[in-house]
Amino acid sequence: MLEQKDRLKNVLDGIKEAESQADRAPGSVQLIAVSKTFDADHIRPVLQSGHRIFGENRVQESQGKWPQLKEEYPDTELHLIGPLQSNKTSEAVALFDVIHTVDREKIAKALAKEMSKQDRVLKLYVQVNTGREEQKAGIDPHQAVEFVERCRSEHGLKIVGLMCIPPFDENPGPHFALLRKLAEEAGVAELSMGMSADYQTAIEFGSTSVRVGSAIFGARG
Ligand SMILES: *Cc1c(COP(=O)(O)O)cnc(C)c1O
Repeated sequence: MLEQKDRLKNVLDGIKEAESQADRAPGSVQLIAVSKTFDADHIRPVLQSGHRIFGENRVQESQGKWPQLKEEYPDTELHLIGPLQSNKTSEAVALFDVIHTVDREKIAKALAKEMSKQDRVLKLYVQVNTGREEQKAGIDPHQAVEFVERCRSEHGLKIVGLMCIPPFDENPGPHFALLRKLAEEAGVAELSMGMSADYQTAIEFGSTSVRVGSAIFGARG
């Protein structure tokens, strides 16, 4: 059975290959290793092999493992890639370095307030519901550009990019293309798109951060 560090290497090789096929500079795509549902003992081998960028989708679960792991590996960068509830903003700002899921006014406002209170500046992405799925988080694509502008002008937030999760039963290409177009219109440079099944496609469409879980850590129980 492959271990985490072998799977990590396979994914890093897959990223390199996709960068080269898309004529993109080597190293232009960042890998976020998504460790949700896995405990610290499963995460440590990936840290030991030198990787430092991780993603989690729940604040509370992350509080149970990452304070200790961040103490062991202080240069770790932790990304929140799941929905943020406003009553968890304070904890999220204290623990995470990047948040990918800003998708409404209330969260933008709460983040601005907490970052100022804690004197911390996080990198922020706006999540866009490109498939306009009812059950999925993210702002409607028609409102995304205006929302990014409001985050800047009304809340003083620095939005670095856009994030999406395409509907799982659809070809992701058109969703990645839409996210890229919206990012250009909004004047943001980063694109958080692509997961285990489609990260190479996402790189073809300009992704700058892929969020890969099961291809590194194995199937989630
Ligand atoms: C779980 C998750 C991922 C990783 O999914 P895999 O298919 O395991 O690579 C990526 N993005 C988000 C938002 C997730 O919740």
